[in-house]
Amino acid sequence: MEKLAINGGIPVRKVPIYYGHQCIDEDDISAVMQVLKSDYLTCGPEIARLEKRLCDATGAKYAVAVSSGTAALHAACYAADIGEGDEVITSPLTFAASANCILYTGGKPVFADIDPDTYNIDPESIEKHITEKTKAVIGVDFTGQVVELDEIRSICKKHHLILIEDAAHSIGTLYKGKPVGSIADLTTFSFHPVKTITGGEGGAVLTNDEKLYHRLILFRSHGITRSADYMELDRGSKDNIGKWYYQQMELGYNYRITDIQAALIISQMDKLSLFKKRRQEIVALYNEAFKNFPGVILQKEISASDTARHLYIIQMDLKKLSVGRKEIFDALWAENVCGNVHYIPVYYFPYYQKLGYRKGLCPKAEALYERIITIPLYPAMSDADVDSVIAAVKKVVGFYSNYKEPQPV
Ligand SMILES: *Cc1c(COP(=O)(O)O)cnc(C)c1O
Repeated sequence: MEKLAINGGIPVRKVPIYYGHQCIDEDDISAVMQVLKSDYLTCGPEIARLEKRLCDATGAKYAVAVSSGTAALHAACYAADIGEGDEVITSPLTFAASANCILYTGGKPVFADIDPDTYNIDPESIEKHITEKTKAVIGVDFTGQVVELDEIRSICKKHHLILIEDAAHSIGTLYKGKPVGSIADLTTFSFHPVKTITGGEGGAVLTNDEKLYHRLILFRSHGITRSADYMELDRGSKDNIGKWYYQQMELGYNYRITDIQAALIISQMDKLSLFKKRRQEIVALYNEAFKNFPGVILQKEISASDTARHLYIIQMDLKKLSVGRKEIFDALWAENVCGNVHYIPVYYFPYYQKLGYRKGLCPKAEALYERIITIPLYPAMSDADVDSVIAAVKKVVGFYSNYKEPQPV
């Protein structure tokens, strides 16, 4: 049954607004059209242009563009040589792909708990979960705010672990002034339409390590190489091989991205700083509106992260409310403010339960999950949109609030 909007207060928004939406302009469209009229729809020049663009924007030495953020994570786990018997520590408060990629290559995901204020993986909890089998850490820059990279990197260094940064949310974010993409051993981006910049689908892996780069290149395209430097050649065989020749060295995949997507992503990169600025403006308006509003708790921002915010999450202060998250969530939908929840802890899913994971592993992430709602945030939102979201949240949370101003004694 559709929930009826709360009577009284502001009228219901006329047009539904969702938590995210791509932002495509005429330049994006013409960039795509040009590729469609060109000789290469895939394996053409736009791929290298995109990779150079990502390196220039982040300061990373190498970038490998792939077909999705999930493919990027799979490639990163492959490059990091994660396999049978290896444990990899990550956060449960993420999209399933951050943990699935570990399973793809035969490793075992181990979930560390979050910091209940920043919602990012807690370095102390990472350290607690390290065993002899731990091979890597996958830090997820949740909502676009960077994980505590200095602490996590020093933990990784101490225990000889590889650090993979799932930066699907955080392209454009700086950590202590350095762009995300240049810091971890491997950093992955996603260009899905809800993310900060999009190619329809798409992803990339960034690294400063030439060996990892070479493994990523092989993995993206069937494990095949056309470069004699990387082939196994018999003495004298050079005479017998021509332009047709290639070798398959590893078991790779077809994770290539098309030139159509690459051209769109390059055109979107032109607007990254504008997108970041507008996202930050909206975040500031929300922060101001909700900071002292009873019933709402805001995500803590760390000063080390200059954040290109991907998601805006309000946490319900359940002590001050007469209902749970679901009632607030449904009431917001009835106001045409169509939120979402990021995320269901990964190990709650039946697939993970069948692997033996049990509820209770990460109490802080589980408690947070019960209280969060993602409200709309994307650059194309007008100030009027922002105002209507704020008004709807205040109407709904206010309606269910049992908060009383403390009485003077
Ligand atoms: C979106 C997302 C991914 C996967 O990216 P796709 O491009 O959709 O495959 C991975 N991790 C996180 C945290 C994401 O939000």
